[in-house]
Amino acid sequence: MFSQLVEFIRAKYETKEFIPLHAPVFNGREEEYVVDTIRSTFVSSVGAYVDRFESDMAKYTGAEKATAVVNGTAALHTALILAGVQQNDLVLTQSLTFVATCNAIRYCGAEPVFLDVDLDTMGLSPLATSQWLADNAHLDSDGTCRLKGSHQAIRACLPMHTFGHPVKLDELIEVCKQWNIHLIEDAAESLGSLYKSKHTGTFGLLGTLSFNGNKVMTTGGGGMVLSNAELGFKAKHLTTTAKRAHPYEFFHDEVAFNYRMPNLNAALGCAQLEMLNTFVQAKRKLAQQYKSFLQHSELKFFQEPNDCKSNYWLNAVICEDRAQRDALLKATNECGVMTRPIWTLMNKLPMYQTCRSDGLNNANWLEARVVNLPSSVIQELA
Ligand SMILES: *Cc1c(COP(=O)(O)O)cnc(C)c1O
Repeated sequence: MFSQLVEFIRAKYETKEFIPLHAPVFNGREEEYVVDTIRSTFVSSVGAYVDRFESDMAKYTGAEKATAVVNGTAALHTALILAGVQQNDLVLTQSLTFVATCNAIRYCGAEPVFLDVDLDTMGLSPLATSQWLADNAHLDSDGTCRLKGSHQAIRACLPMHTFGHPVKLDELIEVCKQWNIHLIEDAAESLGSLYKSKHTGTFGLLGTLSFNGNKVMTTGGGGMVLSNAELGFKAKHLTTTAKRAHPYEFFHDEVAFNYRMPNLNAALGCAQLEMLNTFVQAKRKLAQQYKSFLQHSELKFFQEPNDCKSNYWLNAVICEDRAQRDALLKATNECGVMTRPIWTLMNKLPMYQTCRSDGLNNANWLEARVVNLPSSVIQELA
C-alpha cells in the first residue's frame, strides 16, 4: 500500500541503502575551518570562531545578540533563568514537543503546564493559552500573573515551532502582554523559518536554537540564545562560569554554568551557516515534491502555516487514524526507509504525568496520526 511512497523516496535519495530521517551535509568549508582550529590549538573555550559564529548568527536571524552554548537544552535552561523563572513558578508550554522543552523548565525547579496546539501549526495554541489563563490565572496588585487561589507565579510562555512551522506569534504575543508573561521561543527546529518575514526566535524576550546533528544545520552539538544586547551580556556571563573579565585573576560573582560552546564546534557552525540558505531552499523544494506526490493520497501532507516561510526541517504527513499510522511506520521502516511517529505527549511521560494540562484535544489527535518522512537535504535541489 505504501510501496509507491517508498519508491518515490528511494528515487529522490538515489540509493538502495538505508535512508535516515535526517542526515547532515558537509559540502562547504567545514573541513577547512575545523582543521584551522586544530592547527591553531584553540579548539576549546577560547578562539575566534565562537565570536564569529555568534555575530554571523545574530546577523542571519536579525537578533540583537546571539550567545553560543553547548546544546539547545542548555540554551533553553539559560533563557528561562534570564526570564526570571524560579523554583515553583509555572511555565506554559505545549504537550506536543520534544522532551528538552519541559526538561529545561524542570531544571529551574519550575512546573510546565501543558496546553493544546493548533492543528494548522502543530504549535502552542494562542486560543488554548488564553482560555487556560482566563480559567486559572489572575493578575495580582503588582501585575504578576498568578495561579488562582495560590501564590505560584505564571512566569513565562514557551511555545515550540514544531518541525520548523512557526506558531501564531502575533496572537501569542498579545496573550502574553495581556497577562504580563514573558514569551520565550523554542526555535530549535525552526532556524531559517520566518513568520511574517521576520525570523522565528526573535519575537519573544528570548529565543533558543539547537545545532544537534539532526537539525537544519549542525555544530556536532550546540545551541544558541537569541536576545537583546543586555540579556545577551547576561547570557554570556551565566554560561561562562560568571567570571569577571580580568587578564589573569579568577573572580566569579554568582553560581553559574559551563555551557560555553567550544571553538571546534563553532568552526563547524560558521561553515554550516554559510550553507544554510541553500539547505533551506533544498528542503523547501523537497517539501513541494512530497506535496505534489501525495496530492491524491490518503496521507495528508502538512504544509507551512499562512504568512509563514517554513524551513520544512522534518516533512510530516497526517494519517487517517492510528492504524494507518502504524501500518505506514511498519511498511517504511521494514524496508530501510526511516520514518517516525511524532513524540509521545509530555503529559504521558512518567515524570510529567502530574503536571497541569488542558483538554489537549488537538495534541492527542495529532499524536495518533503524524508521521515524519525522510527530510535530509538533497544537494541537487539546492
Ligand atoms: C533539538 C531540540 C531541542 C534541543 O536539543 P539539544 O539536543 O539539546 O540541542 C530543544 N527543543 C526541541 C523542540 C528540539 O527539537
